[in-house]
Amino acid sequence: MKGGMTERILTSSALTVDLGRIRANYRTIQTELGSVPAAAMVKANGYGLGVTEVSSALWDEGCRVFFVAQVAEGEELRECLPDAEIHVLNGAMPGTEEALRAGRLIPVLNSLDQIAGWTAEARRGDQPLPATVHFDTGMSRLGLAQDETATLQTNQALLDGLDVRHVMSHLASADVAGSAQSAQQLASFQEIRRAFPAGSASLANSAGIFLGTAYHFDLVRPGIALFGGTPRSDGSNPMLQTITLEAPIVQVRNVQQGEVIGYGATHTMERPGRVATIAVGYADGFLRSASGAGTVWLAGSMVPIIGRVSMDLITLDVTDVPTGELYLGAPVELIGDHCPIDDVAARAGSIANELLTDLGRRYQRTYV
Ligand SMILES: *Cc1c(COP(=O)(O)O)cnc(C)c1O
Repeated sequence: MKGGMTERILTSSALTVDLGRIRANYRTIQTELGSVPAAAMVKANGYGLGVTEVSSALWDEGCRVFFVAQVAEGEELRECLPDAEIHVLNGAMPGTEEALRAGRLIPVLNSLDQIAGWTAEARRGDQPLPATVHFDTGMSRLGLAQDETATLQTNQALLDGLDVRHVMSHLASADVAGSAQSAQQLASFQEIRRAFPAGSASLANSAGIFLGTAYHFDLVRPGIALFGGTPRSDGSNPMLQTITLEAPIVQVRNVQQGEVIGYGATHTMERPGRVATIAVGYADGFLRSASGAGTVWLAGSMVPIIGRVSMDLITLDVTDVPTGELYLGAPVELIGDHCPIDDVAARAGSIANELLTDLGRRYQRTYV
């Protein structure tokens, strides 16, 4: 069987993105929501998976509202979706006004300074300018702080010249079961909504959607759930895995008890056995913190990563894998149906979002 006709052979690491499953995840979220529409968070190149491919697939599924972080990301998205409503989370930064107008990008205004800048821009034209207003409800990151919200509430003329599309806020602990912070943010946002009734209201990210209908308002903003990360805090995952990351075996060796493996000799063989080296590493965005901690899927079983993850290579203890499976080019799954992104990330002390957005451009990328 070794390297035989029936064996699948990879020549380099390969990333497969299943656009059909991303669409299916969008439908699952839409089912959870009923009639409330779901926007799509496609910042950071669509969570690393390719903003053009991912967004076009979601558009075909009926998604009409998209959020990115940067103006440049918005410009790239505009090229492929001429009719989408595109929001820029970083807002109207000084000097980006022209680009925002030209790309018909809607800034998310995060402070009174940004509101002042964008209303000044509106006064230069004869049309109201679209904007979304972001209120901080306890995360202390982006959005109008409490004192700014109070100022805006007593002086709503500060918004003159703007066509307010959405008022929004963002949950800090939606992924924590029974979080008191989520309940408190919900109460704050309900109060803000009463004071600012223009446009539609949006609070929930992926995990927020699964906190219940009170969190849905008029629009939700899932990101990671579309790409297969769990939006539930109970460990179950209603979403499908959307990527498969595979790498080929490039070498297999026999090792004696007591031999050490890889940089820094961090792993010592406790028994004689076999080590397989696969062609993928942290330069491909596979987290170095998976060193000595991660597991991969090879020929029907889980196999441990031993030693350090290096730039281009990872070493596996394959002592228990039948030798017929350990051929040159044999595909090893690092992320996929057997290695869900949440598990892979957790073993590396990270989260699915970081894992996905780190995946570099070195893979053979295939979209199915
Ligand atoms: C990234 C982001 C989201 C999406 O978060 P997920 O947890 O990936 O669903 C929603 N809203 C804002 C403001 C964000 O920055």
